[in-house]
Amino acid sequence: MREMLKKIIMDNRELTKKGRVADYIPALSKANPEDLGICVIDMNNNVYTAGDYNKKFTIQSISKTVALMLAIMDNGEEKVFNKVGMEPTGDAFNSIYKLETKDIAKPLNPMINAGAIAVSSLIKGNSSEERFERLLSLFRKISSNDNLKVNEEVYLSEKKTGNKNRAMGYLLKDMGVLEGNVEETLDIYFKQCSIEVDCVDIANIGLFLANGGTILETGEDIVTEHVARIVKTFMVTCGMYDSSGEFAIRVGIPAKSGVGGGIMGAVPHRIGIGIYGPALDEKGNSVAGYGVLRDLSKELNLSIF
Ligand code: GLU
Repeated sequence: MREMLKKIIMDNRELTKKGRVADYIPALSKANPEDLGICVIDMNNNVYTAGDYNKKFTIQSISKTVALMLAIMDNGEEKVFNKVGMEPTGDAFNSIYKLETKDIAKPLNPMINAGAIAVSSLIKGNSSEERFERLLSLFRKISSNDNLKVNEEVYLSEKKTGNKNRAMGYLLKDMGVLEGNVEETLDIYFKQCSIEVDCVDIANIGLFLANGGTILETGEDIVTEHVARIVKTFMVTCGMYDSSGEFAIRVGIPAKSGVGGGIMGAVPHRIGIGIYGPALDEKGNSVAGYGVLRDLSKELNLSIF
């Protein structure tokens, strides 16, 4: 396995030149576009790594999967899906225009920014600090890493420049979708996106989902199989932005990417995958990370379809 991962990283390294590091959040532009790394963890908890697997990056949109789990744990499925739909959009992750379409009246799914902001407003706690701390604890638990923390520079950069997310937050409030105070919710959302991880951390979260919502190492059930399945299904239908359809055909792995360059994969009952490659394609997916997953899927016959 180790040799195979090494070769896949080597074969795809060239692809990093085809992408660009995200710079709409200024602090993200400091990443090295040539970085590429992977971690795979199997059901016996064997950890395999290659390339720049221990470089740190912010989790960004991958956090939407974990926030969704906590919102469902806190409110139940029915309430959450009253506020946010289950359909892919085919639009960019930060698109706002469908929120104005009268017959929809809620964000189409929890993997786009509007849906994720609505979901973060549902996380319970007595203050915004407590609400975020509860979310961070869940991240620490399912990544098996008690040291996870927010990258303050990225958080502040995002808070300062996140005007479109702010606009969506206020629009969602006006529509009666977002609960509570808009700025508090945005603060939770910006912080959750700025949690700093490496490939091993997100491979562990992928493994937890692959294992049906139970932490493999401890046997602790965190969410039901049903909730883990909801998350994996969203990963298939909307996890790779508006490339999700093509990705399902070419790769066939439930995966969620983020503009920090991470991709988390969860192959049910087989492996968790964490990839980092900050050079992104025009849709916002790690360009070389996509290639790595395609090769890995082919080598290990991982497509779930
Ligand atoms: N924090 C980013 C944003 O709201 C997340 C985007 C992403 O990773 O897709 O723009």
